Amino acid sequence: MAGRVDLDSNPIKQITICMIGAGGFIGSHLCEKLLSETPHKVLAVDVYSDKIKHLLEPATVTWADRIQFHRINIKNDSRLEGLIKMADLTINLAAICTPADYNTRPLDTIYSNFIDALPVVKYCSENGKRLIHFSTCEVYGKTIGAFLPKDSPLRQDPAYYVLKEDTSPCIFGPIEKQRWSYACAKQLIERLVYAEGAENGLEFTIVRPFNWIGPRMDFIPGIDGPSEGVPRVLACFSNNLLRREPLKLVDGGESQRTFIYIKDAIEAVLLMIENPARANGHIFNVGNPNNEVTVRQLAEMMTKVYSKVSGESSIEIPTIDVSSKEFYGEGYDDSDKRIPDMTIINRQLGWNPKTSLWDLLESTLTYQHRTYAEAVKQAMSKTTAN
Ligand code: NAD
Ligand code: UDP
Repeated sequence: MAGRVDLDSNPIKQITICMIGAGGFIGSHLCEKLLSETPHKVLAVDVYSDKIKHLLEPATVTWADRIQFHRINIKNDSRLEGLIKMADLTINLAAICTPADYNTRPLDTIYSNFIDALPVVKYCSENGKRLIHFSTCEVYGKTIGAFLPKDSPLRQDPAYYVLKEDTSPCIFGPIEKQRWSYACAKQLIERLVYAEGAENGLEFTIVRPFNWIGPRMDFIPGIDGPSEGVPRVLACFSNNLLRREPLKLVDGGESQRTFIYIKDAIEAVLLMIENPARANGHIFNVGNPNNEVTVRQLAEMMTKVYSKVSGESSIEIPTIDVSSKEFYGEGYDDSDKRIPDMTIINRQLGWNPKTSLWDLLESTLTYQHRTYAEAVKQAMSKTTAN
């Protein structure tokens, strides 16, 4: 760790980071990275700590004095401002960010992603503290190409689908499609952060993650989350594979996504943390444009990879179609395609993703199998016995 320098060869000083949402999927990987590879200190704020308990146990003496967990709900806790004041940098990851909630719990979604983030922005601005705010690729909504006729050759032209931070519009569906409550709340908080930068000099960076996936993402229903809960696609498909049931393709599985390995994405966040002069005032797409698949292709690939890592043959009918209304309920809508433009992050931070979709699925599904296969088997045999 000694002699670490930033991208401009300046020595990196130790800082204290107030990380809100540190107990979640991204937070847990970011904490691990900061503790194992940097000298920085973390004030970890969350309502849950299960995903970082391995970092908080007394046995991890090497970094025991560099991480402190604060069980705080940022909705209503007066300790938040004090923690932001103690830190050099605040990273806000807290959010409701599972699509199944956007149309079924739109109020919670809007409060969580906009209202609850307001004090964080305010305290950073008033106290002259730097903020890295986590937004989403979903602020782009649908691509311009989605509105062209199906047979239009322009649909193949990247100008109609590649998503650029400084030029692409934000295209959401009508209000009754409540799916867009999340994207809209995230867009508004981005605008507020940006305006605080422009009018009051807030030093900020906005991150737009494009489907980061890996170990510890979400939960397996009935094992470490509610039986009726609907996590994001990686955990939904993992759950189906673990239970040897068909993977459900919503509306034919035609939507396209680019998936990036969490460990590649965390490298980008670390560069932002340690290179403030290059990251401040910027909005960054963080994704892997080389890993694009339709959801159907993702299902097929996950089925093959899971078979390889578990040693189990795949089931006879590996996928079934389900309508979005049946799966998510009224008010669901979808982003058609999400390819991030990488120009800005490449220019500012020299960062590029590395891991192929096959490789990231192999390590992630190995983790899922090791972590959950036995528990799922036991839960299933109990259900059959009853
Ligand atoms: P996550 O749900 O695993 O983590 C969010 C964490 O925030 C959870 O641990 C939760 O307990 C905590 N939290 C929520 N409300 C809180 C509150 N009021 N007080 C304290 N803690 C609270 O989600 P994640 O995948 O780690 O996402 C982190 C951020 O990145 C979110 O803002 C999300 O919108 C954004 N994002 C992630 C992805 C992705 O691919 N994972 C994609 C787009 C955007
Ligand atoms: N999806 C699916 N089956 C599932 C879960 C999700 O077909 O069991 C689809 C979903 O409709 C969307 C894509 O997978 O098109 C990605 O969903 P995710 O929840 O990961 O989040 P999003 O990328 O939409 O934010």
